[in-house]
Parts: sequence; C-alpha cells; structure tokens
Amino acid sequence: MKIAILRERAEGETRVAATPETIAKFIGLGASVSVEKGAGEASRILDSHYTDAGAKVEATAAAALKDADIVLTVRRPAASALKGAKKDALVIGALDPYGHESDIAALAKAGFSAFTMEFMPRITRAQVMDILSSQANLAGYQAVIEAAHAYGRALPMMMTAAGTVRAAKVFVMGAGVAGLQAIATAKRLGGAVSATDVRAAAGEQVESLGAKFIMTEALKDASGEGGYARELTKEEQAAQAELVASHIAKQDIVITTALIPGRPAPKLVTKAMVESMAPGSVIVDLAAERGGNVELTKPGETIVHKDVTIIGITNLQGRIPATASQLYAKNLLAFLETMVDKEAKALKVNWDDELVKATLLTRDGAVVHPNFADAAPKPAAKKTAAKSTASKANTSRTAGAKASAAKTASASKPAAADKPAAKPAAKKATAAKSGTVSKPAAAKSAAAKSTAKPAASKSTTRKTTARKPAAKKDGDA
Ligand code: NAD
Repeated sequence: MKIAILRERAEGETRVAATPETIAKFIGLGASVSVEKGAGEASRILDSHYTDAGAKVEATAAAALKDADIVLTVRRPAASALKGAKKDALVIGALDPYGHESDIAALAKAGFSAFTMEFMPRITRAQVMDILSSQANLAGYQAVIEAAHAYGRALPMMMTAAGTVRAAKVFVMGAGVAGLQAIATAKRLGGAVSATDVRAAAGEQVESLGAKFIMTEALKDASGEGGYARELTKEEQAAQAELVASHIAKQDIVITTALIPGRPAPKLVTKAMVESMAPGSVIVDLAAERGGNVELTKPGETIVHKDVTIIGITNLQGRIPATASQLYAKNLLAFLETMVDKEAKALKVNWDDELVKATLLTRDGAVVHPNFADAAPKPAAKKTAAKSTASKANTSRTAGAKASAAKTASASKPAAADKPAAKPAAKKATAAKSGTVSKPAAAKSAAAKSTAKPAASKSTTRKTTARKPAAKKDGDA
C-alpha cells in the first residue's frame, strides 16, 4: 500500500495533503509513503521532516507516483499529472467537481477512484473528516488577522500615559463556522464585536462568545433546511438592509461570511453602505468566491474604495498554510483510516460505506456520483451500488457548484437551486440518518471561552447535503 504526496501545482496553493504526523500514522497502518521533493515547503514542512517521519522523499512527481495505490492531494490534479500511479489508484482531495466535469471524466477514464472531500456527510462519525469546517474555521480566523493588518490601528482599548485608544468596532455578518471563529478571534484581539445572522439559533452562539447579536424584529428566523439559512423574501431583505445600513456606518471592521445553500452569496453591503464607513475602515468578504456579500468586492483582490479597504481573498486558509495543512491532512488521514484493514495492514475499501458512497466520484473507468451522472459514461452494472446510495445519503454540496459554474460560465451542471432534489449547500451534511447531531468545528474551537454553546446543538437534524468548498474556481478546499 503505497501513498504518494505531490507538490500542489495550482497557483497560489500553499497547502500540502500530508504532514509528518499523518505520515507516521500511515506508516503505522502498513503503508509506505513517497513525497515529492519540496511538497511541504510552503507549509513550513521540510523534506527532512518527512524523511524523519518515515517517508521517502523523491526528486520528481513521477518517482513519487510510481506504483502508488493512493494519491492524496489538496486541489484536483489533472489525470495526466498522475501517470505512473496504479491504474485503479484512489485519488483523494478537494476535487471541486462542479464546473470541472471534464476533469472528473478524465480521472474516471484513467481508471482512478476519485473521492472529493467536500462531499463528506456532516454526520458525527465524519466530523473529523470535514474539510469544509476545518478550513472555514481557519478562514474566519485569518479574516480577522488580515483585517487587523489592513486597519492601521490597534484593535483593543488601551489606556496609556500617552492617551486612550478606543476599541475597534468589528461587525461579523453570518455566524456559521467561519463567522463564529471570526467573532472569537476579534474578541481575543480586544475588538468590540457585534454580529448578525438570519438564523435565530445563531444569536445564542454569538452571545456565548461575548459578542452582541443584532437582528431586525421583522426577521424572526430564516432558518432553512438542515440548519442552514433560507433565502430572504424581498421584505425581509429590505428590513435587513435597513438594519445593516444604520449599524455599518459606525463600524471599523466588517467581516462578511453569509451564504445560502444553492444560491449565490446574498448581497448585504451596498456601495452606499461602504461609503458610509469612516476612512481607514476595512471589509473582509469571505463570501468572495461565491460572488461576495459586498457589492464592490472583487474576488481574489484587495481594493480600496473611498478609503475603505475591501479584501476579497478567496483562499484565506491558504494564508496560514502550516495550520491549514495540519488540519486538512488530519481530515484525510481520518478518512483513509476507514479504508484500511488494520490487521492485514492493507487497503480494503468498503464501497458500501456511506462516507465512501457520498464522496466517490469515479470508479472503474466511469463517473459514478449521481450528481454527475450526465458527465460521463455510466459505470459498469456491478459498480452501481455506489451510485445509488450516494444519491440518497449524500448529496452533494451543490450550492457552491452553481455559484462557481455561474461565475465561470462553464459547462458545469446547474446546481441545487435548479434541481430541487439535490441539496445544495455543501458544508453541511448531517445526521439525519444516524439521528445524531455533531458539533460544528467552529463552535467548539471558536469558543475561546468555554461558555460557547455548540452550534449544532441548536440545529435540527440535518440531511446530508453537500456543497462546494470554500475554494476558488480552481478548487480550493
Ligand atoms: P454557511 O457557510 O452556509 O453560511 C454562513 C452563515 O451565513 C450561516 O450561519 C447563515 O445562516 C448565514 N447567513 C445566510 N444568509 C444571511 C444573511 N442574509 N444575513 C446574515 N447571515 C446570513 O454556514 P456554515 O458555516 O456551514 O454553518 C451553517 C450551519 O451548519 C450552522 O448551524 C453550523 O453550526 C452547522 N454546521 C454543522 C456541522 C456538523 O453538523 N458537523 C458542521 C459545520 C456546520
């Protein structure tokens, strides 16, 4: 059982799919691991760290891939870049399939069994494998760090002999995984933090982190299915806009994270609202990749509009690559562990496992995931089990899909909104089947204070759904 780890080729990708810690575990499971030279450099992992953990560092990707049974990646690799791996090798990563159906078909054609981690069901058992949560949590943290850097002033209140510095006012819009971590981080830095969300349940979580929850009376609760938000009606949008307009003018830093499964990101901050902010204010738009919550956001760019900085970086977790890789690699390890026979120390995939069914895109030369049924030739009859269950159990995190498809105007399939049967949203899957509700990573980790309530406890049982990762067009995790 040979595992290959390659240097990521996507521009700007700083993360790596394995760390010395996960490699030591893989070796303990009976695997041999080959790492392409320099694969961990951007994540502060030297080749010698990999060697010390028991891996073999190879000078080229081809050498690392030679006869590999498993390839672990961050972004979606081109099938042509995996030459040398075994024909039926497992390829596991954030493959960002929506809008990239032809790439997925190419992986199928090459014979690989490709698994996309964004489709991991959000059930208790798979919480440790939830890359969307692990990466969104870090993006929420990093959003505050970027904002603080661009702000040019201190965040905490300081009373010094030379005078008093007032605390920066930080407003977080959307209190899901990323938003809760942004709130916790801004609080730790001493900001005066307020937040809003359209789900009433989010209010308690926000307050448990010591921030003020703001919600208009007109909007009682816009919770949708599975603990996600639903799209607001025109009247509700107007009421929210009124609330935001009056609040935002007094803020120094605004962090927007609002998303609705299957829809483009809601526009919450207009040009006029930006112009109402004081010079030097900063906005970080974490929804940039899905079109942005701010009218002026330019995805992937930082702009300054009338002295207000608007940050639209789409791979914020990649700005803290060492930590992002640590958690991402752990998510992959946890998933791969379920596919190894620990006694025989050999690969033994249970193709009927709900996690496998939910994430498997291709097998035996065909695209087998039901959300991509039209993308490629049908699988051989004996393999269809994977297909049928995936459609029931999982379901894709379609939401993002559309957004990116819309953006890229690619040939991608329409996402959830266009196909009611498929649940969009992605990050959220659930415990509908098991009846359990897992705790969102953010609520746990974001809770700098132990008083934070687990977000999931409020949310109802969810159905497994899937959505696109927080990634960029090219397949960010
Ligand atoms: P998300 O990324 O879909 O959206 C971010 C936030 O934006 C959500 O809280 C949403 O309510 C909010 N939002 C949408 N429209 C808005 C608007 N107009 N104004 C303000 N806010 C708006 O959400 P997420 O981070 O994936 O989390 C969604 C839910 O899933 C939460 O309840 C979270 O606790 C839960 N969750 C569960 C698990 C799990 O069970 N393992 C894991 C992660 C998250």
